[in-house]
Amino acid sequence: QVLNEFLDLKGNIRVFCRVRPIRVEENYGCLRPVVALDSNNVLLRLHDNKSKSYSFDKVFHPGSSQDEVFSEIEPVVKSALDGYNACIFAYGQTGTGKTFTMEGNPDSPGVVPRTIEALFKQVVESNHPFLISFSMLEIYLGNLQDLLTTQPTKATDPMPPRLSIKTDPKSGIEINNLAAIQVNDFNQALRLYRLGCRFRTTASTNSNTTSSRSHCMIRISITCFDAPERRRETNKIWLVDLGGSERVLKTKAWGRRLDEGKAINLSLSALGDVINALQRKKRHVPYRNSKLTRVLKDSLGEDSKTLMLVHVSPKEEDLCETICSLNFASRAK
Ligand code: ADP
Ligand code: MG
Repeated sequence: QVLNEFLDLKGNIRVFCRVRPIRVEENYGCLRPVVALDSNNVLLRLHDNKSKSYSFDKVFHPGSSQDEVFSEIEPVVKSALDGYNACIFAYGQTGTGKTFTMEGNPDSPGVVPRTIEALFKQVVESNHPFLISFSMLEIYLGNLQDLLTTQPTKATDPMPPRLSIKTDPKSGIEINNLAAIQVNDFNQALRLYRLGCRFRTTASTNSNTTSSRSHCMIRISITCFDAPERRRETNKIWLVDLGGSERVLKTKAWGRRLDEGKAINLSLSALGDVINALQRKKRHVPYRNSKLTRVLKDSLGEDSKTLMLVHVSPKEEDLCETICSLNFASRAK
């Protein structure tokens, strides 16, 4: 039912907003929350008693549980079993809860583990034979890096083969050399995911907080076999924890930090341009402007389902970034 409602919607792109809670140690008294909301609107209290409101397909308040969030996302996940490719993005300034939404923690697992669980549940219930494979990569400084292949730790270690993007007229976009590991159940997939997350964290301690300076992308490919020997096409779900959207020129970044920030800003604006072109049904969709959009080309378009989860902070000191994020989200609608 929910799925049908979702598929009936005119657009294939939905935009949700999640407002993160203020932590106790952040001293609620000094930092006036600037965000008020209901289930479809976010109201920003600006200076001089002015305010600005933004509307979304759904707004999650600071107290919303991972359960509530996933129940709204699940139709998109299910659409992959109905013949669609799907992309789910977590967008927002660093520290607004993107990783909390996607990865979560052992007490409150996020979208990725829940998606894997829901997919296996569905395919097992369908009683059709299926094949599911799991891949995980990172885009850092414009380069693709496999998160399931051991990265060199010493200069003498062999380099893993480079990943490259290939367009195949039949199967769509392929990533050469990307590990795609067949998984037979939830636990197997979850173990791979944890492994990939660990690679991501290890890299981030080596070069500071790389994790928020890169896009982390999970690809789940599903092939269902309706009847023996009759092969249905493979559909993909992409789950993407995007790099922090904070504008690099406003921060005092320099050197590598500045390069990282610029790379993230460029690819996020390329993503915004693609979504905007799709929403306005423009003839030309500028996929080629970033690796991020090239990788997602066959999963981000007319026959795909896209969900943008924009994360914002309720704190007054983050107001400028919050406005930027909400403006980005508005362009995606
Ligand atoms: P990001 O990935 O956007 O940089 P994180 O997901 O790392 O942000 O979140 C920053 C901190 O805030 C983490 O400690 C995280 O656990 C916490 N946090 C974020 N969103 C929530 C939420 N909705 N509920 C509880 N804690 C949250
Ligand atoms: Mg993060």
